[in-house]
Amino acid sequence: MLYQRSSQLFAEAEQVIPGGVNSPVRAFKAVGGTPIFIKSAKGAYLFDEDGNRYIDYINSWGPMILGHAYAPVVESVIERTKLGTSFGTPTALETEIASLAISMVPNIEKIRFVNSGTEACMSAIRLARGFTKKDKIIKFAGCYHGHSDSFLIQAGSGASTFGTPNSPGVTAGTAKDTLLARYNDLENVAQLIAANPNEIAAIIIEPVAGNMGCVPPQKGFLEGLRVLCSENDILLIFDEVMTGFRLAKGGVQELYNIKADIVTFGKVIGGGLPVGAFAARAEIMNHLAPLGPVYQAGTLSGNPLAMAAGLAMLKGINEDAGLFKRLEEKTAYLENGIREILSESKVDFTINRLGSMISVHFDAAPVTDFQSAAKGDNATFKKFFHGLLDEGIYIAPSAYETWFITDALTYEDLDHTLAAIRKVAQTL
Ligand SMILES: *Cc1c(COP(=O)(O)O)cnc(C)c1O
Repeated sequence: MLYQRSSQLFAEAEQVIPGGVNSPVRAFKAVGGTPIFIKSAKGAYLFDEDGNRYIDYINSWGPMILGHAYAPVVESVIERTKLGTSFGTPTALETEIASLAISMVPNIEKIRFVNSGTEACMSAIRLARGFTKKDKIIKFAGCYHGHSDSFLIQAGSGASTFGTPNSPGVTAGTAKDTLLARYNDLENVAQLIAANPNEIAAIIIEPVAGNMGCVPPQKGFLEGLRVLCSENDILLIFDEVMTGFRLAKGGVQELYNIKADIVTFGKVIGGGLPVGAFAARAEIMNHLAPLGPVYQAGTLSGNPLAMAAGLAMLKGINEDAGLFKRLEEKTAYLENGIREILSESKVDFTINRLGSMISVHFDAAPVTDFQSAAKGDNATFKKFFHGLLDEGIYIAPSAYETWFITDALTYEDLDHTLAAIRKVAQTL
């Protein structure tokens, strides 16, 4: 394929935008080459500036679960736009989407809308700290909760020590309040709690991890966290920015029948517009300003365009009884196909999948946490990625990403994808 126009646009972008991108994952740093500039998208396909077509497995990193340019979202945004784009006042639309979200997700009584998943998670831990009057949080290595300071912490030597900042600009003061644990390691969490008695406000987790590839929780892990939190007056925060409205209508809480204290949303909930949200039972949410002392605000939070897009999206999901089953079946079909093809190749691999989240790791050992995810062979991934891109299959340009499956994919698209994988596998 020719990427001439993309290359030229990237060179121009680099002059005026750091790294040529407004979010680092879009750059092809981990895989080499220059990012593809997309001009339009429809259903399961992306069309780039050079006129190439791709079957899309990124789907805006999650939101496009019903396909690109999903008509109900497009139409409601167009109609709302004509009525004015933002007022800075309450609107009826906000109550409508809040009520719908609360009816779909178990165990939440009130919800507040923000503009991104980052904001949702940042606000959720502030609320947890305000509610519990404690400062520290536990997060898991390999889990991503957006780019606010408290979350940009990487494991030091051993996961049970104080975090050290892994991005310049995060102060040591902030880092010391974030404790790092190992995913799927309940004992590790228990140790951290014991070592910091009465100091931990919240445990925040991707209940099915999707930012180190797809790493499902092992049996008993989430249940164990629930018990540890309840016993120690710690709030359990499920970051469902990726899993919410993707794995089930009610997210992982519904899937595993586990109650979180606070839940955060993003991605799908905005239907492709900038939306995040956090939600909990009223007792917790009432600690937020203006009812309570915990401050949280946003000039464009809940703006009518974002809410119109989100509402059309959630309605589409809520009214489609067969959606999650279809998504699971399509993803399982893909999984089985890839497994068969790679088994016949000479590469070592592991495939993780839960529902419509799937990741291919180029290492034979099971991937259960960040350490095991990091063992994947990046040189093989690079070849795999570029080989597929050249065949018109667009997966995320990083070995640490889940593939995002959209319902717009047909079995013909999936077969086309598998044929491309078969061809590329011979070059690995
Ligand atoms: C994408 C993501 C975020 C951050 O959301 P943004 O909208 O990019 O700020 C937070 N948590 C998880 C689990 C995510 O996947």
